[in-house]
Amino acid sequence: MAEKLIIIGAGPAGYTAAIYASRAELSPLLFTGSQIGGQLTTTTEVENFPGFPDGIMGPELMFNMQQQAEKFGTRFAYEDVTSVTRDASTGIFTVSTPSQNYEAQAVIVATGATARYLNLPGEKELIGHGLTACATCDGAFYRNVPVCVVGGGDSACEEAAFLTHFASEVYLIHRRDTLRASKIMAERTLAMPKIKPVWNSTIARYHTDDKGEVSGVTLQDLITGEERELPVKAVFMAIGHTPNSKFLGDLVDIDAQGFIVRQGGTTATKTPGLFAAGDVADPLYRQAISSAGLGCGAAIEAERYLHSI
Ligand code: FAD
Ligand code: NAP
Repeated sequence: MAEKLIIIGAGPAGYTAAIYASRAELSPLLFTGSQIGGQLTTTTEVENFPGFPDGIMGPELMFNMQQQAEKFGTRFAYEDVTSVTRDASTGIFTVSTPSQNYEAQAVIVATGATARYLNLPGEKELIGHGLTACATCDGAFYRNVPVCVVGGGDSACEEAAFLTHFASEVYLIHRRDTLRASKIMAERTLAMPKIKPVWNSTIARYHTDDKGEVSGVTLQDLITGEERELPVKAVFMAIGHTPNSKFLGDLVDIDAQGFIVRQGGTTATKTPGLFAAGDVADPLYRQAISSAGLGCGAAIEAERYLHSI
């Protein structure tokens, strides 16, 4: 028997879709992937999710969403989806994981986005050895030592501010001389005495000690081309995220950055019965609340689609 609805992704979009779909008695099966709770599990306080005037910790917010979805009958599969295909004659989707295939009449994709790195030589090997994209996860390992954050958006500011609790100095390396982050976040971050902005610069090379841990970086000034050494014990990458849309193949159209193209402001994709919600399909806002909103929309549209067939 095919499932009525499979939801892929356990972030704000997937959980919200699950809450709505399970209350509509679609008994959805939700695949969590490896990051249960999504990107907000990598942060501390969330101050802008409505309903929490004193803020709420990211992991707690996501745990609450999971509980709420479970309460109404969502079932969870703790696996990564590797591909989705659709039989054109029956309209049934096959959702594959490394262990088995599942069938569904409708699918909501809410797979969010994955942290980007600079693609420098030897970079991958350094992840977990002083190079990371999660201050909440790894910040406490770097007490009273200098560290750096790369990026100029809200994430970079938030990571840098969090790291001031531990590090002796936090260098904020940005490729321009103006932060992209929201005004409130940018002002708050730059006012912190431990935060040292390094404008118009990028990392040209990483340096390691004899244990293979990051010991510093070579900075390049993007205007003069000059290089200089910066001794840091950790590099926190915060240069954005890549949408997790590849595993869908030709079932969806994607834009130049990899975001799934939704049809005319809805969550429908070019494939009937396949809906997309959250960061994976949102080049504009990429917030927890906007992802949740799209998750709600996707569940309503999936329910109407299932009714129509
Ligand atoms: P995500 O949260 O990215 O979740 C994606 C889910 O899909 C994960 O569960 C993952 O395991 C799963 N998945 C991925 N691929 C697969 C696959 N192949 N198979 C199965 N599952 C898969 N926004 C705010 O509004 N306020 C904030 O304060 C805030 N702080 C942030 C701090 C940081 C450090 C970061 C990185 C982001 C922050 N954001 C914040 C942005 C917010 O986290 C995102 O907009 C939101 O999490 C997107 O939700 P989502 O459900 O689309 O995807
Ligand atoms: P982002 O807004 O896309 O910012 C990415 C930053 O990295 C930009 O400053 C960009 O520089 C820089 N960058 C990108 N590629 C680079 C490269 N190859 N080398 C060097 N620098 C590079 O990403 P984000 O900060 O992760 O935020 C994503 C979304 O989540 C946003 O919508 C944001 O508002 C949201 N978010 C919200 C909160 C909050 O509300 N508290 C917190 C975190 C994130 P340029 O500026 O030059 O492009």
